[in-house]
Amino acid sequence: MTTYQHILVALDLSEHSLFVLKKAHELAQQNHAKLSAIHVIEPLVESSHLAFDGTISTDLLPVQDEIEASAKKKLSKLAASIDLAEENQLIQIGRPADTIHQLSKDLPCDLIVVGSHGRRGLSLLFGSTANAVLHGATCDVLAARVND
Ligand code: AMP
Repeated sequence: MTTYQHILVALDLSEHSLFVLKKAHELAQQNHAKLSAIHVIEPLVESSHLAFDGTISTDLLPVQDEIEASAKKKLSKLAASIDLAEENQLIQIGRPADTIHQLSKDLPCDLIVVGSHGRRGLSLLFGSTANAVLHGATCDVLAARVND
């Protein structure tokens, strides 16, 4: 059986995230693997609305900072439940699936764990982040079944 060495768990910080994180933690323990957790913050504005130099408009910066601080706090609370070190708690800004794919190559990791659905609910499973992560991944992907 394949053993994994580095597992990346993607968390949308919804009420399902603790379940998804615990599942990934169990897998990491069984495989004696390293575990990293990522939350991706979607950009506040589309690139077409950015300033000419590609930077975000200055009046949106405090909002962006607030979103980041709140995400960091929520991720850190979740991470505390499994004693996940701060250096393995990652927050990045971008499109969730693309960012998760890139990070999975950069780390590198050999398994990505996602929830079967999250904030957006079961009705949007197709075309969802879980689906997008599965389709572009260069490593294994496990969708932890989330029951509502
Ligand atoms: P969704 O496709 O939005 O229903 O979410 C399905 C799963 O994709 C979630 O349970 C997470 O594992 C992952 N996911 C969705 N959005 C994000 C995000 N912004 N950052 C990290 N993971 C995410």
